Amino acid sequence: MLIPVRTTIFEDMSARARAAGAINLGQGFPDACGPLSVREAAARAVLEGPHHYPPMRGTEALRHALAAHYAETQGLHFDPASEIVVTSGATEALAAALLALLQPGDAAIILEPAYDAYGPLIRRAGAAVQPVRLAPPDWRLTAAMIEAAITQQTRLILVNDPVNPTGRRLSSHERAAIRDVALAHDLLIVADEVWEEVRPPGSAHVSLAADPALAGRVVKIGSAGKIFQVTGWKVGWMLAPAPLAARLAAAHQFLTFTTPPALQQAVALGLQTERAWMDEMRLEVAAGRAHLAQGLQQAGYAVLPSDCTWFLSVDLAASGIAMPDAAFCRWLVDAHGVAAIPVSAFFETDGPPQSVVRFCHAKAAETIDAALPKLAAARQQMAQKSEQMPLFSQSP
Ligand code: PMP
Ligand code: GLN
Repeated sequence: MLIPVRTTIFEDMSARARAAGAINLGQGFPDACGPLSVREAAARAVLEGPHHYPPMRGTEALRHALAAHYAETQGLHFDPASEIVVTSGATEALAAALLALLQPGDAAIILEPAYDAYGPLIRRAGAAVQPVRLAPPDWRLTAAMIEAAITQQTRLILVNDPVNPTGRRLSSHERAAIRDVALAHDLLIVADEVWEEVRPPGSAHVSLAADPALAGRVVKIGSAGKIFQVTGWKVGWMLAPAPLAARLAAAHQFLTFTTPPALQQAVALGLQTERAWMDEMRLEVAAGRAHLAQGLQQAGYAVLPSDCTWFLSVDLAASGIAMPDAAFCRWLVDAHGVAAIPVSAFFETDGPPQSVVRFCHAKAAETIDAALPKLAAARQQMAQKSEQMPLFSQSP
């Protein structure tokens, strides 16, 4: 018998948005599309080549560019020959890492809300999922919370930092908690850091891979889709010490084997030449966040704090809307023409919080301006209804 597999919330909400002709603030993709030089480099490489299988671990140019980029921006040192594996997006990197590092009977910790691919990929590797449930508004993580989920079977912790969907990043205390637990229980860490470049302007990203105490334990995952705003390109990578990287490469070779070389060439060029574009991108993303947050607040929504990724969230209960997040998102797209993502989709099981909704703010000012009156009308209608008839009550 085939086990049912659900369609992702992103695909589901984007399909609803298309059907309703709605403004799509659901699935995470920006209105913009990356630096011109990077797109031109890709176009040139498609015309002129290379066209055939690049090396299984990625083109020389991209592996060298990644090594230089991470040395300069995060003080990390990875050998391009033995410690970097290029993949077809971070999704493939996650699949390869989990298949390489987990055996049937093992278990893996995830921190919820967790990116929706984590649970299914861990189970696909034959392992059990051990969720650690965090709570809004600050989604704070402690060592005790992780300890409570650990068993003899726990083999690794899968961490996302900065976090999709909350748009916040781990504090130094939270990173230390993860480190202490990993050392106490001899665990590996898969650090999904695809949002590393989408952070407050002028700030630095501190990778879990930068902690010397964790040497030999961390697989760091990145994605060009997020750095260069080209989500459809699916160029990602895994960085790890050589013995781990050899295991990761062994898994990658039987998943996709390689990744389109033209796109790898273009990403290599971008990493070498587009540092100023990345600074500008951070300013633009921060402006989009402030624009949407301000408009939502004016419309009466309770906006949760965030400063990273392309996402911000609102708490419906605290906004006077007595409706579960998933039902609200289905109603919002059909009745008011704006798609959003219910954060309950980032949890393995039902339970609180079920009143947090994620919006993608990496959009042109006109897109946000077009969405805001619709969101205001939705808030007004639903808050009035909620006062008369509480469908669902949850303390903010
Ligand atoms: N991890 C996280 C936390 C993400 O948000 C995403 C994409 N939104 C991915 C992985 C997948 O990245 P890619 O598109 O490179 O496969
Ligand atoms: N990661 C993107 C998001 O969070 C979507 C990726 C996907 O559609 N699978 O919206």
